[in-house]
Amino acid sequence: MSDDEIQLFSSVPRKKPRREQRERAHDSTRHRARAEPNEPTERTEPDDLDDLGFPQLGVSEHLCSVLGALGIVEPTAVQRGCIPAIIKGRNVIGIAQTGSGKTAAFALPVLHALARNPYGVFNLVLTPTRELAFQIADQYKAFGAGQNVRVSVVVGGLDGQEQAKQLERRPHVVIATPGRLKALIDGNATVASAFKRTAFLILDEADRLLDESFEEDLGTILECLPVMRQTLLFSATMTRALVTLQKELLEDAYVFEAYEGLQTASGLRETVTVVPAKVKEVYLTYLLRNLEEYEVRSVMVFSGTRKACENLVLLLEELEIPVTALHSGLAQRERMASLDRFKGGRVNILVCTDVGSRGLDIPEVDLVVNFDLPKLPEDYVHRVGRTARAGRSGWSLSFASQYDVELLKAIESETNRRMEEFKFDEAKVLKLLSNVYTARRVKEISRAKKVKK
Ligand code: AMP
Repeated sequence: MSDDEIQLFSSVPRKKPRREQRERAHDSTRHRARAEPNEPTERTEPDDLDDLGFPQLGVSEHLCSVLGALGIVEPTAVQRGCIPAIIKGRNVIGIAQTGSGKTAAFALPVLHALARNPYGVFNLVLTPTRELAFQIADQYKAFGAGQNVRVSVVVGGLDGQEQAKQLERRPHVVIATPGRLKALIDGNATVASAFKRTAFLILDEADRLLDESFEEDLGTILECLPVMRQTLLFSATMTRALVTLQKELLEDAYVFEAYEGLQTASGLRETVTVVPAKVKEVYLTYLLRNLEEYEVRSVMVFSGTRKACENLVLLLEELEIPVTALHSGLAQRERMASLDRFKGGRVNILVCTDVGSRGLDIPEVDLVVNFDLPKLPEDYVHRVGRTARAGRSGWSLSFASQYDVELLKAIESETNRRMEEFKFDEAKVLKLLSNVYTARRVKEISRAKKVKK
């Protein structure tokens, strides 16, 4: 992150009252799992927050009744930690595992504040993927029911002119991916000015958004926002960019950190199978054809690149295994339709790239297959985080070939957990060998024909 960009995050420093200072020490000792040895060791009562319900966190009666109707009664840790601080007007950095209720942790206090002073654009949420943007919008709409909240989703792959018109009408909440929002701001001064009174800027999956690839987009967007605002950053991991940002500009921020290293969920059974690269597809085919035997109803299969994903989908279709796909080569409508097919249970196998690895809330995923191991351990944690969500159990199976030994070690040393070895019935699997190889040849021939045309 450049100095210029850090500057753009600047919000007017407020003097901290003594009470807030006390709370901050309380916050960090209460929640920070990796406390530094020299940190203040003020005495805390770790359990006193655990009894608090939404009303005690300061959430309005109306919102509490909406939550009740949705069956959300007990706040999660990240909600208990962050909601009171946001309602008090603090900037917040929230580090918590995926699936921990982060969206509600920021959406509820924003809706609470919006009810008192409704105008548009009150809140801008930036998120790295289009699917996440729609998912966040769904939660705002559900929690904002009865409050007439107007929510717009601004992402690539859909009609940009229509999105610009929506922004000109100044919805209360805008949920956007940075690239498309920058493009709309660049081309239209009315769009740019819609954000001049924005009270809340939220960066969801902030670690990813602070990556170099978003730097330019973020710079343009931040220039449209007022300096007087609340900035809320949520991430599953505390990265160097987040630490820099906090030190340089969000020094007064309340930090909620339930981060305990790159952790996988406790209800997750993590397994690995070592197979030669050449026959990985045969093993996958066996697995997908025998899901019932493994008591698996739904699977996400991750492949390394868009091309690899496309090829795998073609092969599985050739083998008459019904799958649906999610990767950046598909048009946005196809991506959404595909995800809906999977979420709605019409197809129980989703083959995807890391586009599907972050934040997607699909409660029914029983198994995550890393057909290709991810290059970064943190991506592994995000991928397997699609199963065993919200206290449920789940299973992950990673295919490791002869080329993956180092990668496997790096993942295990980051997560501090050893994967259990998973053994297939080799004799049964290898019976499929010629079937899969024939399908692969057919697929290659039909692809070659298409290219020739
Ligand atoms: P998130 O981590 O924001 O993706 O949320 C994961 C899922 O948990 C979503 O389906 C939320 O609706 C749900 N959720 C959020 N807060 C709570 C809560 N306090 N109790 C039960 N479910 C929740």
